[in-house]
Amino acid sequence: MNDEQLLRYSRHILLDEIGIDAQQRLLDTCALVVGAGGLGSPAGLYLAAAGVGRILLADHDTVDLTNLQRQILHRQDRVGEPKADSGRRTMLEINPGIEVEALTRRLEGDALLEAVARADVVLDCCDNFATRHAVNRACVALRRPLVSGAAIRFDGQIAVFDPRRADSPCYHCLFPEAQDVEQVRCATMGVFAPLTGIVGTTQAAEALKLAGGFGTPAVGRLLLLDARSMHWHDVSVPRDPGCAVCGHPA
Ligand SMILES: [Zn+2]
Repeated sequence: MNDEQLLRYSRHILLDEIGIDAQQRLLDTCALVVGAGGLGSPAGLYLAAAGVGRILLADHDTVDLTNLQRQILHRQDRVGEPKADSGRRTMLEINPGIEVEALTRRLEGDALLEAVARADVVLDCCDNFATRHAVNRACVALRRPLVSGAAIRFDGQIAVFDPRRADSPCYHCLFPEAQDVEQVRCATMGVFAPLTGIVGTTQAAEALKLAGGFGTPAVGRLLLLDARSMHWHDVSVPRDPGCAVCGHPA
């Protein structure tokens, strides 16, 4: 780290849990953020501000006026621009000392595997089950830690999966694909603006802990937030030995 970096990240370096070593690990980290929307906005902003050295920001959509109520990466004058490009600009405005790559094509198949393979930690900030399951399969196959988040109406959830650990469940252990009968999306259901901030920021916190190697990541737990009452529920989630994605059937 040079003098400017030591100053920029000094409030991290002052923390006993982080210090110079973990901050350097953050600078050496590549994080993949899938989705530059309500969750990807705060998650991406905090990863960038905190000094994650390389961020891959994936979103195939363009900025829409209805996004601006909560997707704080974007600006009114960028309506119609690719969200990944808009997000990249905002993140680099906050921290020009990192690298941000905008992935503007739909992340699937080989492109998804390639992006996950490059990442040290993956944040699922998308809004649909098909992508969630595809990202989970790629993370299990390539043994990459995954921080999953979701927000709809006033209900938020966060879960952390680490396929490097034998006791960690995966997203499929928790939400088998057969249960994904109904697609619930913000477009039809609405979402409370700061809820996406709370969930996305929590995802950033968990990703920074995983990448920096400090604290205790919330692996094997499902955090549920009811933002109407601001009550959090913390549910233990065991690994499913028969899981079709991460299980080892006899
Ligand atoms: Zn599983």
